[in-house]
Amino acid sequence: MQKVTPQVFTDTTLRGCNPSMVVTDAGVVVVDTPQLPTKAVAMRQEAEAHGEIRYVINTEHHVDHIFGNYYFRGAGMVVQHQGVYDNFMEVTPSLDSFAYAAEAVPTDDPEGEAIFPDRDEYFADPNKGHVVFTGDLTLRVGNHTFELLHTPGHTPGQIAVHVPEERVVFTGDTIFSECQTWLMGSNVTQWLAALDRISALDVDWVVPGHGEVVTRDYLHRQRSNLVDWVAAVTDAVAKGWSREETVERVDFSERYPVDVGQGYMMSHIQTLNAGSLWDKITQGRPA
Ligand SMILES: [Zn+2]
Repeated sequence: MQKVTPQVFTDTTLRGCNPSMVVTDAGVVVVDTPQLPTKAVAMRQEAEAHGEIRYVINTEHHVDHIFGNYYFRGAGMVVQHQGVYDNFMEVTPSLDSFAYAAEAVPTDDPEGEAIFPDRDEYFADPNKGHVVFTGDLTLRVGNHTFELLHTPGHTPGQIAVHVPEERVVFTGDTIFSECQTWLMGSNVTQWLAALDRISALDVDWVVPGHGEVVTRDYLHRQRSNLVDWVAAVTDAVAKGWSREETVERVDFSERYPVDVGQGYMMSHIQTLNAGSLWDKITQGRPA
């Protein structure tokens, strides 16, 4: 894994989120788990080489942040916001989370097929939250503080994990650094407030949900991505464009590539982002 500070590690090279860990003098705290099976197993080994895993914290409920929890069963307590717990591995008409996790394995982790559970095995113990909270929560582990800050917007249960002693914050997908932002299912108004909250932290490093580690300077670029998407679709609605016309014409694919391993999803992301914003704006719901 990449060293962010002497005690903080992350991996920005995997398909899925940036799984991370903080090594304290009283054990290891994991922040999000790798979606791909062999990557999850390898990260657990690497973490345990530094000490006992005390907590596994999830920053959001999206599959690529939580599926790997399965491979961390028995390794400390899983800490989740209520909003993550309630939506954990959700099955909706448009998304079967388990199928989504399974789909990436043959192409991105063929050796993982041997350790990929069947659906019943998985749901018997997916390693869901043991400590579930609302609002914010502070954990102390050895000489380190973990401030779990509720920063909804990208998802309802979104949190940022601020570790002041390391001058680091892990934001989950409140930040997509230099890659496409997924904003279907999001509340952009809340998301902008989340960026304000994070920008008030005195940190040197921002570990995003996807893309390279950045500094606080990047926050305004994430803000622009959100504001520009909403402005473009608001403008489309004002011009009377239909949903189909909006999806066809509003496109930010030139701005950034898609994160590792998901390049084939570029037009899917544009369609989901434009379509979901059009739905919300025309229905008078918050964007
Ligand atoms: Zn996400």
